[in-house]
Amino acid sequence: MEFDYDLFVIGGGSGGVRAARMAAETGAKVALAEEYRVGGTCVIRGCVPKKLMVFASSHAARMEDAAAFGWGVSADGFDWQRFWPRLRTELDRLESVYRANLSRAGVTVFEQRTLISDPHTVEMAEGRRFVCKHILVSTGGRPFLPPKTPGIDLADTSDDVFLMPELPKSVLIVGGGYIACEFACILNGFGVNTTQYYRGTQILRGFDDDARDHIAAQMSERGIDLNVGTDVAGMDRQGEGILVRTVDGRESAFDRVIYATGRIPNTAGLGLERAGVTLGKDGGIEVDRYSQTRVPSIYAVGDVTNRVNLTPVAIREGAAFVDTVFSANPTVVDHANIPSAVFTQPEFGTVGLTEAEAAGREGIEVYSTAFRPMQNSFIDRNEQAFFKLVVSKATRRILGVHIIAEGAGELIQLAGVALKAGATKEAFDATVAVHPTMAEELVLMKSPVRTA
Ligand code: NDP
Repeated sequence: MEFDYDLFVIGGGSGGVRAARMAAETGAKVALAEEYRVGGTCVIRGCVPKKLMVFASSHAARMEDAAAFGWGVSADGFDWQRFWPRLRTELDRLESVYRANLSRAGVTVFEQRTLISDPHTVEMAEGRRFVCKHILVSTGGRPFLPPKTPGIDLADTSDDVFLMPELPKSVLIVGGGYIACEFACILNGFGVNTTQYYRGTQILRGFDDDARDHIAAQMSERGIDLNVGTDVAGMDRQGEGILVRTVDGRESAFDRVIYATGRIPNTAGLGLERAGVTLGKDGGIEVDRYSQTRVPSIYAVGDVTNRVNLTPVAIREGAAFVDTVFSANPTVVDHANIPSAVFTQPEFGTVGLTEAEAAGREGIEVYSTAFRPMQNSFIDRNEQAFFKLVVSKATRRILGVHIIAEGAGELIQLAGVALKAGATKEAFDATVAVHPTMAEELVLMKSPVRTA
């Protein structure tokens, strides 16, 4: 069979771009199609703009702290109009870097929607068809909104926040996951009157229970009106704002309502079923450990497979695909013990098992501490840091690390190395503390707070 391309990548996000570049560097003839902007969720409407907003919004608390430390601080409030154009310029710059990297590697980029006609053929929106040896689907995910909630079309998603020309005065965030908690903290930091509704008993389901309680308390302490055990029953337009009715019969008005109720894989309208690719119960493309679908010539990586929906994981899956298919080096991504951070304020870094998960598997010891770091005691800020280690009784290995503190996202990266290396509690104990830091608590917790 004659092929137009050795690899055709559909979707120019983190996983697709990495795979396209690496495959081209092996000498393969590669094309990539992206219907929106190169960079995908992470660069255009996710991690990067979100983190820049975290930086921008965290200065409110920093200025309070600076004043308490004795600085004469005169801030005249946050000006979205000064921040937002700069944010957009930065995203344009990053997109152009992504494009330049693809072009330097020799990847042909098509700026249009593409679908799969059969296991070796893709069809461009403008009608051209290409015969390809391999097809990689890396189309990511998109926000999910509960379709039956009355007035749901009035709601925004995190995608819309990055496009807001001005900041609202009040906002309701619906959901209790990563995105809901991060955006509640960002908007609260910007001075927006922020309310959050979460339907369950505590935000951040799936994370360590002590950490969830701690982060919820700190978010409330910072001024977020966090309401658990409630949900939106319906919404109506009221003037310029939105009137929200809750399932427990309350009514409140907000300038904007932002739904962060999960994301779903972008699989619709790609021709996947016609080509023989199957989807799992959760809507993600079914793949084996080499990211190969049921159709041998079609692979999928990143959020569209709904495995672990994180940028660095998509990048690794893209790289492993290239190693496997183009470098004759079958490579599997290890999805265990992936460190991650929720960029709340304060941050939450976590790796490994929660206490409940670990206790369900084996006998454990739990070491934890919550305390006011010295800088907070000095200025009488109530915010507490939280450190927790979950340890196997039998092997002494650290099974989980959970940290809530300023910079926890940075700290958890190294804790992740320790876990990957199989560090034991005794290795932590034998490590001399770095003093005075918050993180020294990681090596100073001598007695378990409980065993299970
Ligand atoms: P999550 O799955 O983390 O959270 C979804 C939230 O919405 C949950 O609280 C869920 O409640 C709630 N929910 C779901 N359906 C409904 C509904 N019908 N009505 C009301 N509430 C509902 O999704 P996110 O969108 O926050 O994030 C998606 C993924 O993106 C994350 O899982 C993560 O992998 C990734 N991400 C990572 C980040 C990081 O690394 N810092 C940042 C942002 C996203 P319940 O718990 O009851 O199901």
